[in-house]
Amino acid sequence: MKSIKEIFRIGHGPSSSHTMGPGKAAAMFRKKNPYAERIRVTLFGSLALTGRGHCTDVAIQREVGDPNIVDIIWEPEKTLPHHPNGMRFEALSHGLVTDTWEVYSVGGGALWDEAGTFEEGEDIYPDTKMTDILNWCKSEGRTFVEYVELHEGAEIFDYLDEVWKVMVASIHNGLENEGVLPGTLRIPRKACAYHVRAQQSAGTLRHMGMLFAAALAVAEENAAGGKIVTAPTCGSAGVVPAVLYFLKHDQDISDKRILKGLATAGLIGNIVKTNGSISGAEVGCQGELGTACAMAAGAAAQILGGTPMQVEYAAEMGFEHNLGLTCDPVGGYVQIPCIERNAFISQKARECAVYSLFSDGRHKVSFDDVVETMMQTGCDMQAKYRETSLGGLARIYRAPIKK
Ligand code: SF4
Repeated sequence: MKSIKEIFRIGHGPSSSHTMGPGKAAAMFRKKNPYAERIRVTLFGSLALTGRGHCTDVAIQREVGDPNIVDIIWEPEKTLPHHPNGMRFEALSHGLVTDTWEVYSVGGGALWDEAGTFEEGEDIYPDTKMTDILNWCKSEGRTFVEYVELHEGAEIFDYLDEVWKVMVASIHNGLENEGVLPGTLRIPRKACAYHVRAQQSAGTLRHMGMLFAAALAVAEENAAGGKIVTAPTCGSAGVVPAVLYFLKHDQDISDKRILKGLATAGLIGNIVKTNGSISGAEVGCQGELGTACAMAAGAAAQILGGTPMQVEYAAEMGFEHNLGLTCDPVGGYVQIPCIERNAFISQKARECAVYSLFSDGRHKVSFDDVVETMMQTGCDMQAKYRETSLGGLARIYRAPIKK
């Protein structure tokens, strides 16, 4: 299993798989073909179906450096063999194709190709299953955080400190920025108003409003192409920062403990990514916001004093109770249902943490069982519910389209 840095990537929204990944691939291909007269990029499957709303073309043009030499071809009816998010890059000079590269954006900003031509980190963890890591914690009397530090080194906390700073900045920016989000849906930002109303409230209403506002802030920043951290993806980037930010301010938690919560959240996301998928195009939203819920629930349980068993239980519930969640973004934008869903799932993550802390951590279904179930459910899910915008809300809801 690779570093948890693969889960927390700093970049610009609105989509890790449809913006960050293709942008990164475009930059790599351009670097390899600096003198090509034209770059032709064919987008297949989910990338072609929702790429316009996700700004895939914009990200590719930006990373190539000169939008005038880029030709984008959209192939929504076809897919490449290994993943729904396939791309073919071609370099052309004097009308002849001089280089070709087929590559896949597999979720969370990560790329994959058959030849392994891009650099991903080394495997640094000996275990890949939650059960094995939990058993290590029990036998050694240690925590998930100590497991992460043992294998990543103490430097991981420097990286997590940077991650946390960007997360907080994305919340602050999202709470300040107002106006309409980009795209034809004409959705007004809500985070600022929620925050003001929450400040004027008390008790449970205030708590709920503050958490909703923080999650909306990041999700809206993401939808606007702002700087965020994948956790584990762009579309689900609001949940982990919102829950941790809420806890920090509600319970006066130190940044040091927040970073430990992030380490645990990263480990949980890493287990899903290694044994399942965090790609909405592969398994639906259960792999994106379901994973985010598990990460935030586990981190919150730990920050609030949970044992490793309670942390695993919180993560398991956060994941189990999002099984079957489909991906059906209206108009191909990471806005409906994504933004509201970040807010509601933040609340759910917090509740899972509290629920687990009322227990002694013992329960029947393991986190690993849910990862396997999520993967099977995702494989059984029809393609129209996996980031194609061909089914669900994307088909039923007909927004008045404005140019
Ligand atoms: S519905 Fe979920 S998986 Fe699909 S784009 Fe929105 S956040 Fe991502």
